[in-house]
Amino acid sequence: MKTVYGPVSSWRLGRSLGIDLICRPKKVCSFDCIYCQLGKTKEKTLKRKIFVKTEKVLKELKENLPKVKADVITFSGTGEPTLAENLEEIIDFLKRETNLPLAILTNSTSLDDKAVKSALNKLDIVVAKLDTFDEDSFREINNPAKGISFKKYIEGIKSFRKNYSKKFALQIMFIKENKNFAEDIAEIARKIEPDEIQINTPLRPCRVKPLTKLEIEKIKKEFSGFKNVISVYEAEKPKVSPLDIKEIQKRKRPKP
Ligand code: SF4
Repeated sequence: MKTVYGPVSSWRLGRSLGIDLICRPKKVCSFDCIYCQLGKTKEKTLKRKIFVKTEKVLKELKENLPKVKADVITFSGTGEPTLAENLEEIIDFLKRETNLPLAILTNSTSLDDKAVKSALNKLDIVVAKLDTFDEDSFREINNPAKGISFKKYIEGIKSFRKNYSKKFALQIMFIKENKNFAEDIAEIARKIEPDEIQINTPLRPCRVKPLTKLEIEKIKKEFSGFKNVISVYEAEKPKVSPLDIKEIQKRKRPKP
């Protein structure tokens, strides 16, 4: 698998060149979300390590950066990107080599980790997950690794946000299990004070069904007091010219 993939057409970030620092056919994550498009988590962990050698990532970046047309470079891929211990090293390289904004899609479980904070503070956009409103819903929907309580999770997001001055978005995946609790989630989100709310529902094949456009519109109303609210059904997706389409498909494996 290649570590650099895309650009993909992202409904929230535009033409996004992906960097996958996990790069495993079976994902590695601190969550096992019931809606995950990559199937069940085989390796559920909070332990950070190097999954792809830095030299390999830099080699691919040097080869591909000059030839891609992208709006943003995004850390994402086959698992939770903050688990990669060389994340900050790669961010430092990118900051020297490109003027493109740098973003991450994170599940928010490591936002209280000193090394993760140091790395993420160098990014231009942090998109952090928040799908739930209490311990039970957290266990049911995100099914976290041992050692993560809902309280600790929320405190981690809040304390990171307090010290992060660039664009901070909350991504919320709505499904049957949390659709009637949008108000409770909005209340928590209000205390976090994000720059943007991204309302999502799993449109790609996975173990659960997406909500309808109408259901998402209703949910969006609960977030009316926020400065910027976008939803997956409304956003426009730009045209892209991917480096290798197969590398994108490997990260969209349907495993219902
Ligand atoms: S955090 Fe993302 S990669 Fe991890 S299980 Fe949830 S959806 Fe899948």
